[in-house]
Amino acid sequence: MTNQEKMKIPRQPMPEQDPLVRRRNFKEVPLGYSPETAVLEASRCLSCPNPRCVTGCPVHVDIPGFIARLADKDFPGAYASLIKDNSLPAVCGRVCPQESQCESKCVLALKGEAVAIGRLERFTADRHRAEAKEENVPIPASSGKKAAVVGSGPSGLACAYELLKAGFSVTVFEALHEPGGVLVYGIPEFRLPKDIVRSEIEGLKKLGAEFRLDSLVGRLYTIDELLKEEGYQAVFIGSGAGYPKFLKIEGETLNGVYSSNEFLTRINLMKAYREDSVTPPIKGKRAAVFGAGNTAMDSARTALRMGFEEVFIVYRRSRDEMPARAEEIHHAEEEGVQFLLLSNPVRFLGDENGSLKAVVCQRMELGEPDASGRRRPVPVPDSEFELPVDTAIVALGTEANPLLRQTTPDLPCSERGYIIADEDGRTKKPGVYAGGDIVTGSATVIKAMGAGKKAAQAIIKDLM
Ligand SMILES: Cc1cc2nc3c(=O)[nH]c(=O)nc-3n(C[C@H](O)[C@H](O)[C@H](O)COP(=O)(O)OP(=O)(O)OC[C@H]3O[C@@H](n4cnc5c(N)ncnc54)[C@H](O)[C@@H]3O)c2cc1C
Ligand code: SF4
Repeated sequence: MTNQEKMKIPRQPMPEQDPLVRRRNFKEVPLGYSPETAVLEASRCLSCPNPRCVTGCPVHVDIPGFIARLADKDFPGAYASLIKDNSLPAVCGRVCPQESQCESKCVLALKGEAVAIGRLERFTADRHRAEAKEENVPIPASSGKKAAVVGSGPSGLACAYELLKAGFSVTVFEALHEPGGVLVYGIPEFRLPKDIVRSEIEGLKKLGAEFRLDSLVGRLYTIDELLKEEGYQAVFIGSGAGYPKFLKIEGETLNGVYSSNEFLTRINLMKAYREDSVTPPIKGKRAAVFGAGNTAMDSARTALRMGFEEVFIVYRRSRDEMPARAEEIHHAEEEGVQFLLLSNPVRFLGDENGSLKAVVCQRMELGEPDASGRRRPVPVPDSEFELPVDTAIVALGTEANPLLRQTTPDLPCSERGYIIADEDGRTKKPGVYAGGDIVTGSATVIKAMGAGKKAAQAIIKDLM
């Protein structure tokens, strides 16, 4: 096929569950490409000699390489090419913001629509999983080195993967009872089925990783104890930034007011939608979610699936400033989430039992741009109004948990509590490396993976 013929093929749409059906179930929203659609989409790629798409990928996947194999219907070859650079392709194919990374750089995006790289990545990984036979994965020859990874989110998993491939003995310490970090406790099932995360983690276990769950580093062992007493020659900290931020307004301790972190964790990890759950079930009729990032969209869409009749996103700026991915906003709207823009919560009102009954909001208007470049919201005088709700979810972002900072006094941290590490993940404390959200603040899965991979390369270089 000539390049001109390739450029005439339209970008292939992804089939999805009907919005009115999916708003009440936790099944995955996009349904995935068929092999025929994937091959057709792959055949749009021009196999550029200097592929711009690769420069947009934080882990530098050989994008034209794996897509060329797909176009040739060599599905195992495509997977083998993909997995060389990305240890979690089924996850990244679903949650990476490709529109601002690889796909934004694709030459086809200059004049039309980029190759659907994310959808092809997802297809390749899913196809491999569906066809995979029980195989004996060869364990790399031991290098005699031993490393500890603190946190089993994408940064920790990517770091562990690289170290395992280099023959390290790797122990991953995870505070929660299930590994995966935000992939299991934050991102909901309907965007990222947990079976997929589990199966990608199984791959690491087959390579020899040991996972120690319910193990909070800083309490069980300090970082110094891991290095000096437990025999680890290097420690990678990928503990994320999961500490919730609050509105700090009157009534925030009423029953029915949650941080998005608590709300999503209780539903994703502790299955609060089931009557036999270990956590009290979350029930209500009207929910307000404060914030307009991806976490807010996830919380609002989760609330709908929990049976709430009406769900509002309350945001103090306008639609143009909403930080969530356009696709997430679109999905939330399609499912019936209502947007109360230019509105800011001022206080919560409770009933005689201490339960939330309403939130008082104030109208806002946009003034001059602030330091972030976005127009500053300014309160409109005498514009307060009451929004009756029985549930409120505060999704204003997160920050660093102080535990490791407090128990490792010589670990340099920024004023805001994030660990200071160089480009390669080295901290100033010998033997200690860090990456992901605990260094950068809340970012993305693939950036955290890129940081974990780089830190592993630094550890390998320093120890071998
Ligand atoms: C609701 C939500 C939705 C998101 N959606 C997307 C998305 O669609 N696409 C995207 O790219 N990004 C998304 N993100 C951001 C992305 O998930 C994070 O940037 C990424 O997970 C960061 O990875 P990490 O490895 O640094 O940390 P995390 O994923 O936070 O993992 C850290 C792990 O460390 C554990 N831990 C913490 N302290 C300790 C300790 N002392 N001892 C042992 N274990 C410890 C935690 O329990 C956790 O399991 C989302 C985030 C949230 C909250
Ligand atoms: S830039 Fe686009 S067309 Fe070129 S190799 Fe990458 S995906 Fe293919």
